[in-house]
Amino acid sequence: MSLDYTWFDALEAKIPHGEVRTRFAPSPTGYMHVGNLRTALYTYLIARHAGGKFILRIEDTDQKRKVEDAVAVIKRTMDACGLDYDEGPDVGGPVAPYVQTERQSYYKKYAELLVEKKQAYRCFCSEERLAKLRENDPNAKYDRCCCHLTQEEIDAKLAAGEPYVIRQLIPEGTTTFSDAVYGDITVDNAELEDQVLLKSDGLPTYNFANVIDDHLMGITHVVRGSEYLSSAPKYNLLYEAFGWEIPTYVHCASVMIADGETGSVRKMSKRHGDPSYEDLVKMGYLSPAVVNYVALLGWSPKGELAEQEFFTMPELIDAFEISGISKSPSAFDLEKLKYFNSTYLKAMAPEAFLPLAEPYIRMAVTDPDMDAALIAPLIQTRIDTLADIPDMVAFFACLPEYDVSLYANKKNKLTPELSRGILERELDAITAIQDWTYDAIHDALYGLAEEMAAAEGAKLNKMVGKVMWPIRIAAAGKTVTPGGAVEICQILGKEETIRRVRLGLEKLAG
Ligand code: GLU
Repeated sequence: MSLDYTWFDALEAKIPHGEVRTRFAPSPTGYMHVGNLRTALYTYLIARHAGGKFILRIEDTDQKRKVEDAVAVIKRTMDACGLDYDEGPDVGGPVAPYVQTERQSYYKKYAELLVEKKQAYRCFCSEERLAKLRENDPNAKYDRCCCHLTQEEIDAKLAAGEPYVIRQLIPEGTTTFSDAVYGDITVDNAELEDQVLLKSDGLPTYNFANVIDDHLMGITHVVRGSEYLSSAPKYNLLYEAFGWEIPTYVHCASVMIADGETGSVRKMSKRHGDPSYEDLVKMGYLSPAVVNYVALLGWSPKGELAEQEFFTMPELIDAFEISGISKSPSAFDLEKLKYFNSTYLKAMAPEAFLPLAEPYIRMAVTDPDMDAALIAPLIQTRIDTLADIPDMVAFFACLPEYDVSLYANKKNKLTPELSRGILERELDAITAIQDWTYDAIHDALYGLAEEMAAAEGAKLNKMVGKVMWPIRIAAAGKTVTPGGAVEICQILGKEETIRRVRLGLEKLAG
């Protein structure tokens, strides 16, 4: 078989040089787990920090694992997290296509090129023969039977249409590869199998396709999970076989999680039901908080920034150094993420918080007369996630069952009996309000406190506490509420407030 070298030359001529180029290369499995998101983020940060290019490549050669819509999930996640790519399936670029199934003809030709270079060989062994080889030892390596075929034997098999795979010919000696995180690792080539590069259906194996693509796309830094560390020597041998420059490897340690049931620590995974990025968003976490938290799962800033926890994306781009990536596995901790999330929520401008909070408020408070814009500021600093909102505001929609004992309060020296007297006067004071505004409610209740303080010769601020307690209990039906009595009454509206105060008085008359 003769190869058309101009075809290879044309492809190689397209490879961009002279810039940092990184790629995120997910397989479309329909789920962007936290480890994947972190790989994408670090890959992005390395490119952006260096002013280089960030590329999205879809690795879909394993069609069995392919899930409908999976690419959409990947793109949605990247978009929401601010990981904009310069080249990719939908945006194109100088080394398109960016989807492996659209690059199939490349892999076959490059495998043939390796055969010609005597760095690979055709293997016609049947499945039965290979199974037999592994009968006694499932890890037995291929015995190189077909490596010894003569050209005549090969030609005859090809002419007879016998199916074959192409295997990499692993040379003797040792292979050392350098990883930016793990350092230099040397393996004895005798441990490596003559791996299949091209399957009998003409499709590449993952191990082959990623090397071809990384080279043809001019990738300078290959960032991936540490589960690929053991394959790196084989990749190096492929680069060497072609005579290509080896990229910088950046392997990232696993993201672990404590199993809710067993308590043991294991790798985060879909199989165990661990949350994906989109699950976290559904659980009420904000994208920037997730991104910030994930950035620190296995990377830490250095120098002056060593203690800093909160980073915007531009700050991350600025601070991100490969040398800050850790070799040790990191632990995903939902409590820590909650802390990041609540800090982000608190820091948001109220105008930005309202549209996020409103759908959650409306899950519980459906009456349009109860103004979400008044409720939102009361809860913004009190929640860990948006999903905390419905429970926290449910009392606006429906007065909870509560016990009369809530009207007793030590600090304010209140018994239910004393509260009853105050609540009766409060009912009169609020019934007299014409225009139901915050100020009007405030002034009515404050006025009452002033009157009572004067009559009893007590301090005004003490009396304010005393006056606010019974009406807040009556209006909310609980002791701990977002917002004080005046805000709660304002949101409930006059009619509902009066109804609740009357109910409270009935309870107290009990
Ligand atoms: N397609 C591989 C995965 O999703 C990526 C490996 C790599 O980045 O090289 O695990």
